[in-house]
Amino acid sequence: MISRLHDPNYDRWACQIKRTGGCRQPIHLRGKVEHYDRATGQLLHRYSTIHEPDGVLRVPCKTRRASRCPSCAEVYRADTYQLIRAGLVGGKGVPETVSAHPCLFVTLTAPSFGVVHVRREKNGEVLPCHARRDAETCPHGHVMSCTTRHSADDPRLGEPLCPDCYDYDGSVLFNAISPELWRRFTLALRRRFAKLNGLTVKAMREHVSIAFAKVAEYQRRGVVHFHAVIRLDGPDGPHSPPAGWATADALAQAVDHAAAVVTAEIKPLSRTFRWGTQLDVRRITMDGDLTEQAVAAYIAKYATKAAECVGTLDRRVRPLDDLTALPIREHARRLIAACMRLGNDPGLADLRLIHWAHMLGFRGHFSTKSRHYSTTLGELRAAREEHMRTEEITTGRLPLFDEDTVLVVAHWQYAGRGLSLGEQFLAAALTGVRLPSVGGAPQ
Ligand SMILES: [Zn+2]
Ligand SMILES: [Zn+2]
Ligand SMILES: [Zn+2]
Repeated sequence: MISRLHDPNYDRWACQIKRTGGCRQPIHLRGKVEHYDRATGQLLHRYSTIHEPDGVLRVPCKTRRASRCPSCAEVYRADTYQLIRAGLVGGKGVPETVSAHPCLFVTLTAPSFGVVHVRREKNGEVLPCHARRDAETCPHGHVMSCTTRHSADDPRLGEPLCPDCYDYDGSVLFNAISPELWRRFTLALRRRFAKLNGLTVKAMREHVSIAFAKVAEYQRRGVVHFHAVIRLDGPDGPHSPPAGWATADALAQAVDHAAAVVTAEIKPLSRTFRWGTQLDVRRITMDGDLTEQAVAAYIAKYATKAAECVGTLDRRVRPLDDLTALPIREHARRLIAACMRLGNDPGLADLRLIHWAHMLGFRGHFSTKSRHYSTTLGELRAAREEHMRTEEITTGRLPLFDEDTVLVVAHWQYAGRGLSLGEQFLAAALTGVRLPSVGGAPQ
């Protein structure tokens, strides 16, 4: 920390750190950018990292995972919020008329893989977890009843009443197949919605299109479920209204049907998976119980969370890792072990269970959307970068070139990542971002 403070380049370093927005694990890049005149080949401007502190440029890691970098995850969360909200009320290139399109907020859950400890509330009162008068005793001697009124931070929440009865294989296989189940759900939904209105899918496309945005959330028991915004548009996406007969009620009916009928099979094991019976379908309205802000905030919140809330690892499981020695809860350990064991089955190679063991088998994208939903994260990022570039030009650091006449040649090389412990303190002071907990030093 002291050597950094006394470095003659400290101001420039501090400037770089501020530009990363307090990123906990900035990427170090070495390289140069040169601007040439296309006509004459004359070098107009050169930027090289040689003159930067340590000869590198520090850029944000852009992770979406709050456990790894709170600052970059916050940027991701805010972008996701804007993206979801634009799809509900307009903005960012989406017309405001989109707010009149029928729109639902749907939660698709996973089925049960065994009885787990849960916290249930009714009228503000916590209910007993799983009270059964004539509870059976399982083959392992556990009585299948729990009368505890669990507190919200009880570590047993989400864990099975009997781990030996719990279907760990089913849980990780469901996570692995869930992206396919979602894909089939969207197809079945389109088919059903067309049928309800007496049309083929192809004929329906001339009047109505269905747009999706979804996010995956891990439940405490370690399975994913999906929250989705499903919106009806006209044939040209959000820019045209759907036909009058395309109502939210009809859409809700089609969602009910599609969620109940779709299946996805893991053929080598002859196992078929479907959604859980708990299905939540609500209308999103501008003034009702479920407003567009609430939905956007909800989806954005889960976009920055991964499986770590289940108590699993925040990194890949390495081949030589001793599973029994990992600092994780038994439930997560068994889920990871199921991935490692099933991952060795050549018939299941496509599921890449070993690679995604730390995610408990889920390898899908956390937040995805159909093409026409709204803007994209990439566009939001490009807009922000353009803003920063404009700022550089107006503050005189980068000359203003006509993009058509100037050739930009850039060479970049990865030169490491992270901050030393002393640098983390300085970065925290510079950017007002809280420090990682002890042991959170960069890897
Ligand atoms: Zn970061
Ligand atoms: Zn319980
Ligand atoms: Zn048992």
